[in-house]
Amino acid sequence: MAVIQSFGAAEVVTGSCHLLRIEKGPTILVDCGMFQGTVEDRNDEPFGFNPRDVDILLVTHAHLDHVGRIPKLVKEGFVGRIVTLKSTMDLAEVVLLDSAHLMLEEYQTRFRKAQRRGAEKSVKEPLYTPDDVEAVYDLPMIFVKYDEPIEIAKDVTATFRNAGHILDSATIELDIVEGGEAKTLVFSGDLGNHNDMVMPDPVYVKGADALYIESTYGDRNHKGIQESVAEFKEVVVNTLLNQGNVLIPSFAIERTQEILCILKQMYDSRELPTCQVFLDSPMAIRATRLYDTYHKELSRQCNNYLKRDGTIFEFPYVKYTLKPEDSKKINDIESGCIIIAGSGMCTGGRILHHFKHRLWNEKNALLFVGYQAEGTLGRRIINGERHIRIYHEEVVVRASIHTINGFSAHADQSELIDWMNHFDNLGKIFLIHGEYDKQRIFRKVIEERMGKKAHIVAPEENIYL
Ligand code: ZN
Repeated sequence: MAVIQSFGAAEVVTGSCHLLRIEKGPTILVDCGMFQGTVEDRNDEPFGFNPRDVDILLVTHAHLDHVGRIPKLVKEGFVGRIVTLKSTMDLAEVVLLDSAHLMLEEYQTRFRKAQRRGAEKSVKEPLYTPDDVEAVYDLPMIFVKYDEPIEIAKDVTATFRNAGHILDSATIELDIVEGGEAKTLVFSGDLGNHNDMVMPDPVYVKGADALYIESTYGDRNHKGIQESVAEFKEVVVNTLLNQGNVLIPSFAIERTQEILCILKQMYDSRELPTCQVFLDSPMAIRATRLYDTYHKELSRQCNNYLKRDGTIFEFPYVKYTLKPEDSKKINDIESGCIIIAGSGMCTGGRILHHFKHRLWNEKNALLFVGYQAEGTLGRRIINGERHIRIYHEEVVVRASIHTINGFSAHADQSELIDWMNHFDNLGKIFLIHGEYDKQRIFRKVIEERMGKKAHIVAPEENIYL
């Protein structure tokens, strides 16, 4: 009998890692993500299974909480095949290298400080290094296309469907024949929302004996996207007309591309005053170029832009500043800039340099377009902190602060329910990838609206297919 255990994203959002053991068949891991935020210490713990026993790793998409522990998996003995879309592994390389460099820098800083105290041995080694990331790419990989079933082992077929969440993200259907009996197991992956400017709508799936579905926003519905775009435009236009600059801390994948699309649309419709738009994040620049390369599965609007302009996201006001010296030059510009930079929650990256140079000036605007976790600098500013320290220097926050909550790469409650309602046959529902309290709300809603019971998967619990 096949059994599934979740070694991550069980009663929490991050660390996606689900192990499927098929009797007399292969052992399959679906995603191998990093734990983030308050549960990040779990990354240092053992996986809970032997990486050598895994034959196949299926990857739903390239977000760190779905791919972030793959280098650790390889370091600890995984030598099987990776099955996913090529674009996902290309984007994962950008994500994993960025994460490895950040961890290495942090390690080196701590090591230097500890050295002065004679306590080098107390410093924890990074989870993995850039070399460990490179080792992942030496493994055999099988690249799939959407909607084309592929036999990944005897009696096990995988079909990837477009989940519409980030570039080439997938829902994975696994058709398994065991003891003459056929069963379908579906992993939703992270599901996108409808009417996104960059991503197409998530593809519906026909049948599942068991569905593992994400539940990040199972407890709520998002504010309308149109309303959020209107708020965004208003802040941008008013700030520029008032001779100010707009600072936008942004996640490198999906949100950055969405923001660029909105600005391009404003440029097209002459709503955008003359300005300079800087994409000032090497990681976001690399990711954006991959969106251009793998444009086929993006929204119709993106493909129309590409056909018309030869590029999806660029327009005459946009500059990509890859080199540090080009980034520094932005400081000399007095007004009329829109600066999109990382990190998304202002915990590091180039956005901090722009904060130092511009937050003191009340003509400027700081525009939050993404979630700011508790404890991050972004959240502290939203909560009203007006004297912050950046690189040992005190900076006063006089710029106007704006938070736009309606942008999201995830389906909300009603979209998750709608997606499930499109199944012709839906067997058991298992909730993963969500905070426990929110999952309980979602479970109740599923029962009320669909008349079905859903089970919240506990960490390492055995679920028999
Ligand atoms: Zn994701």
